Amino acid sequence: ERIIASEADLHDISFEQSLRPQTLKQYIGQDKVKSNLEVFIKAAKLRQETLDHVLLYGPPGLGKTTLATIIANEMGVNIRTTAGPAIERPGDLAAILTALEPGDVLFIDEIHRLPRTIEEVLYPAMEDFCLDIVIGKGPSARSVRLDLPPFTLVGATTRAGSLSAPLRDRFGVLSRLEYYKEEQLKEIVIRTADLFDTVIDRQAATEIAKRSRGTPRIANRLLRRVRDFAQVQGNGTIDFDITEESLELLQVDRLGLDHIDHKLLKGIIEKFRGGPVGLETIAATIGEESTTIEDVYEPYLLQIGFLQRTPRGRIVTDLVYRHFQMEVPSD
Ligand code: ADP
Repeated sequence: ERIIASEADLHDISFEQSLRPQTLKQYIGQDKVKSNLEVFIKAAKLRQETLDHVLLYGPPGLGKTTLATIIANEMGVNIRTTAGPAIERPGDLAAILTALEPGDVLFIDEIHRLPRTIEEVLYPAMEDFCLDIVIGKGPSARSVRLDLPPFTLVGATTRAGSLSAPLRDRFGVLSRLEYYKEEQLKEIVIRTADLFDTVIDRQAATEIAKRSRGTPRIANRLLRRVRDFAQVQGNGTIDFDITEESLELLQVDRLGLDHIDHKLLKGIIEKFRGGPVGLETIAATIGEESTTIEDVYEPYLLQIGFLQRTPRGRIVTDLVYRHFQMEVPSD
């Protein structure tokens, strides 16, 4: 089982939903994003308007879907959820838009993966709450304009850069989610343990936080696995020793790097003398998709200064050699 994997898999979905904070108050961290949203939500409610469209961007597992749900809760409206790759034809999007109730939140995950033809349907929908559809074929075809109820589009993406400029410009609020600090992850771990009715000591919670790559989804996954070990091999209480032991068995190291990170970093060192090496070459060498490396593995390695991106490719830094207790090359 991959702990770092970007998406919530089938087993995860109900688990994750059961852990989702429901209000801004319960949402830990991301203070800047939260306080801005709080103001915009209050203002929209005072004016009895729908909230402006919101774009949330940042690495997977940082809480974009959770925030979308919270926005709907705080506005007191329903949320409809879909994802970029799920909308194949303009008719799919039209069906979703015409079924909205006034004020609803429409959440589109992975919005950068919407086909361009569909994006174009979205422009008038976002701007003027209307839909231009073509009826009939050939010479008798004509365009009809349909009114839509006012709604709030919340888009989520791991790559704000892949969004087309006209789409990006139609969002009134752009919020970037950051990796969480250890202190906040610890709080999340303690909150989740509490929801599980599991006792965890502070040292254990800190250790899980340290190894969660700044990501709540990973913190919760690690906690779940450690809880299994604690229940089967211990007395159910999660202490530091059982935490360390189980994370060892899960091959998650002190910095939260797993065997794929190791393969990636060691691959660059051993086969390319530390780089520079292109993304596609790395992907082929370690047998992973380049998009997975770019979206899931690389952002954290860049963040902690283990990798650097240069025009000629990726290079590993001295920190990596030290982490693996290897000699730092003199050049
Ligand atoms: P994303 O949509 O960015 O991939 P999710 O919203 O699905 O991430 O969050 C992944 C998991 O992490 C969820 O189970 C959620 O409960 C938890 N989570 C995310 N952000 C927070 C937070 N700020 N506080 C508490 N739990 C969080």
